[in-house]
Amino acid sequence: MNPMRIFCIGQNYAAHVREMGAPLAAEEEPPVVFMKPSTSLVPAGQDVPWPRHGQELHFETELVVGIGQSGRPTTAEEAVAFIDGFTLGFDLTLRDLQRQLKAAGHPWERAKAFDHSALCGDLVRVPLQRFQFTGRIADTVRQTGDTDDMIFSIPRLLVELGRVWQLQPGDLIFTGTPAGVGPLSPGDTLTAESPTLGRFVWRMES
Ligand code: ZN
Repeated sequence: MNPMRIFCIGQNYAAHVREMGAPLAAEEEPPVVFMKPSTSLVPAGQDVPWPRHGQELHFETELVVGIGQSGRPTTAEEAVAFIDGFTLGFDLTLRDLQRQLKAAGHPWERAKAFDHSALCGDLVRVPLQRFQFTGRIADTVRQTGDTDDMIFSIPRLLVELGRVWQLQPGDLIFTGTPAGVGPLSPGDTLTAESPTLGRFVWRMES
């Protein structure tokens, strides 16, 4: 059995790239990719333990793509057949630690790939389409996402990943976060919601 992999895309919405103070990548550059271990997954409905090795825990609401077949798509048309379904999730990030690691030129794993850092809803088997979604913290909508605003479209992400990794059934792809990321507090509820995909809720432990 192939262990499931979690790919994450960074800097895929221009407004979020600007809020992070990063320059926009040139058109021909590949996307920013990092990974989380499958053991970082937290299914919807569960409480999320608070990490102990950083201070500023940020939410990033993201559309997640599930892969259903093995191989390397080479065109956007081919890539569509690799999709098993979609869901919503949160890429939890220790932002203070990420800033330190970026400044030192070090890998991001300690800030991004810790236990319980990948909140992921159930896969919904709907066709590829334009998805609009929100990320709500407690009672306030903090992020509004629209896949039409992605720098790398979903089919293009699959082609770009396929250049490096053979896609496998069970792979998950967190496709990047729109603008509006911010810090969580103990006891916060996190709600990711879309008219097509439904609503997924987590709660930070106090
Ligand atoms: Zn992210």
